[in-house]
Amino acid sequence: MLLDKHFGCVRFVFNHFLNERKEQYQVNKKSDNYYAQAKSLTELKKQEETVWLKEVNSQTLQFALRSLDTAYLNFFRGNAKFPKFKSKKKKNSFTVPQHTKLEDGRIYVPKFKEGVKVIVHREVKGEVGKCTFSKTPIGKYFVSILTEEQYKPKEKTGTVCGIDLGLKDLVITSDGVKFKNHKYTKKYEKDLAKAQKHLSRKQKGSNSFEKQRRKVAKIYEKIANTRNDNLHKVTYQLVSDYDIICLEDLHVKGMMANHKLAKHIADASWGTFVRFLEYKADWNDRKVVKINRFYPSSKTCNVCGWINQDLNLFEREWTCRNGHKLDRDINTSINILNEGLKIIGAELSDYTGGDGVRLSNKQLSVKPEAHLSLANG
Ligand SMILES: [Zn+2]
Repeated sequence: MLLDKHFGCVRFVFNHFLNERKEQYQVNKKSDNYYAQAKSLTELKKQEETVWLKEVNSQTLQFALRSLDTAYLNFFRGNAKFPKFKSKKKKNSFTVPQHTKLEDGRIYVPKFKEGVKVIVHREVKGEVGKCTFSKTPIGKYFVSILTEEQYKPKEKTGTVCGIDLGLKDLVITSDGVKFKNHKYTKKYEKDLAKAQKHLSRKQKGSNSFEKQRRKVAKIYEKIANTRNDNLHKVTYQLVSDYDIICLEDLHVKGMMANHKLAKHIADASWGTFVRFLEYKADWNDRKVVKINRFYPSSKTCNVCGWINQDLNLFEREWTCRNGHKLDRDINTSINILNEGLKIIGAELSDYTGGDGVRLSNKQLSVKPEAHLSLANG
């Protein structure tokens, strides 16, 4: 059947061109990239013994070549093992990059005029994009679909906040809410420090150096992944809860950290945090206000305005001259909020409801894959 023909042709193309690259490499110490191979593929389709390649979707075959190219790049960047030949006995798959449609329980892709009957496991919202068909070793067929959905900005909440970025807690809001750093980040930071120490003892260019270098890179990746996951959650929460979010310009933070590595990671976190916050705010018609880095946000009492010139880095709580008891972080956030509101004072009415609310343009968001299983292809 046509589905199996697609699995077979993709396997053939991948293996044929992988073999070609391996052979070329043995002879010339380099091999054809995607573009050169795409040309060869066109030639291959004209030859009598491989003319059957024409029976399947040509974009699907090109996509297989691209995957091969990506596999090569990942290998040379040290992110993956050398690509393996595809086996009929393992899970097989092919991808249809475009011209796909889901209608009345059938999926329509090029070359399949009648479509393919599917059982939908999860509702598919939005426009259908790239589809990947797969066949398990026990002969079950699946298709996963990538969709693009029109994004609707969140409703206005009528609330504003100031936030302080910290080392112990990632974010402290002027409402006193504290968002923690990811609990694993600390553990990975320790692993990283250890792995880097080992690396520093190895001879540059040696095998063991290379091995250790990859170990370090892997831990970095783990830190980045858990960290970003957490940053997405926190920034999502903030734009859900507030119309205006005020924060300090980041440079001021550089002075706070004392440990080199902790500082490096915190810097990266804060930078990414602001990036995530800004684009999510943009999508949802929220406003992010940055305040001047020289504003003494932690030293000023938010109640009376007295400035504590002697406040040091490690005082978590303090009392001002007029007896106001202050939590260092929350006090800072409140000052950041007040300063931020001063900056945009004229626009404030726009964000606290009423007619001034602006609606952002429609946004496209790529949603996670939806899964279908084929009803007996
Ligand atoms: Zn005071």
